[in-house]
Amino acid sequence: MERYFWHLSGPQADGLACVLCGADYLKARIPSVEVGKVPDTEAPVFACADPCAEKIAAAADAMAREMRDAAAEVGAAWDAETEDHDGSLGGDGHFGHLLRDLRALTGAEALLAVTDDMPSVRYLLRLTARHAEAAVIRAKALLERTADTADGEG
Ligand SMILES: [Zn+2]
Repeated sequence: MERYFWHLSGPQADGLACVLCGADYLKARIPSVEVGKVPDTEAPVFACADPCAEKIAAAADAMAREMRDAAAEVGAAWDAETEDHDGSLGGDGHFGHLLRDLRALTGAEALLAVTDDMPSVRYLLRLTARHAEAAVIRAKALLERTADTADGEG
């Protein structure tokens, strides 16, 4: 399992207690399954097979779906941009693309606030870096463009 779990108690981090409900596996014989790892030590952590592991899987599914939707949206915006990218920095499309970058960053912020497994966090950070970089370039281009316009008129 790739998923990391944060804020674990000692027994949870040692794989001796459920990461969700905290059930003590030394005291109670509860069937458990490995659901992820401790970030620092990469040690496996466990959850009760029923219902805790199911709940964790359902939450992960919901998050993955949300992330795929966000990724599809961002990917579509990215494709549209590369298609009409004609090298003219002052094109009208730039403002629209800048707004899309800002929306992607807002989406990444919302997802980062609720995401705590490392692969997903890293994915969101890559997405943030890409769109933040693009936003800087576009904002500067638009500033230059509007400065030129002001000079031309004045
Ligand atoms: Zn449990």
